[in-house]
Amino acid sequence: MINRPFKIDFEHPLPYFRDRTEPIKYIIIHCSRGTPEQQLEILNEYKISVHYIIDLKGKVTAVVPEDKVAYHAGLSRWKGSQGESLNGSSIGIEVQSLDMGQRHKSYTTASITKVCILIAYLIKKYKIRRENILGHSDVAPTRKPDPGAGFPWRKLYNHDVLFWYHKSMRIKSNDEKELLEIIGYDTSVIEAARYAFCRRFLPEEVEVIDDIQYLVDNPYPLNFTPKNQELYMLRLQCVASAFEEERKRNYWFFNN
Ligand SMILES: [Zn+2]
Repeated sequence: MINRPFKIDFEHPLPYFRDRTEPIKYIIIHCSRGTPEQQLEILNEYKISVHYIIDLKGKVTAVVPEDKVAYHAGLSRWKGSQGESLNGSSIGIEVQSLDMGQRHKSYTTASITKVCILIAYLIKKYKIRRENILGHSDVAPTRKPDPGAGFPWRKLYNHDVLFWYHKSMRIKSNDEKELLEIIGYDTSVIEAARYAFCRRFLPEEVEVIDDIQYLVDNPYPLNFTPKNQELYMLRLQCVASAFEEERKRNYWFFNN
């Protein structure tokens, strides 16, 4: 039994869930603009759900119990995932951000600290691998822009709840599609996968958009190519290498 190392401020307000039939393998991070109360209204309207909402002050709303499947990822895919959605094998966390994560200051220290505590607890409880902590835009690149290029992934790494790439390690391939697929991206629309990658690993290539409705309706720009092609390819090679190494390391850890 692992005790929850944080306080829940509001518990289980929505009835949209089903029983789990698969183990929990992924954590999917989302962002929401409104307060938890406003967010609950939206979820309720569409009859969808999430496991946790964390507000700007770091307060936690537990919407659906962890042992139930919540409806947060929609059509989504990641390397090795089964079926049409990651809902069945994931926990969804929504983090409040006033501008949908467009800038670093969009997220508060209080909320990110709580996100890290929550993820550390879930990793330990369900033996979730650090390469399976993903953003909604990673697993649904054509449909979703959250948690945005401002989400501080590196802080999660600093809190030891994520792994990161090393600049010295890279796969010496120039095949963009192959590299994106090694990481886990669905490349059926390559521009979308490319943009989702940049959101997370090369945010300086991503345009800041203040018109949130536009952003939601247009999660990625059509015909997107990074300005700095050389840096993009180098970063892609480093990140692909990191994911490959992490999977090998975990394979050894979980199978020996
Ligand atoms: Zn989302």
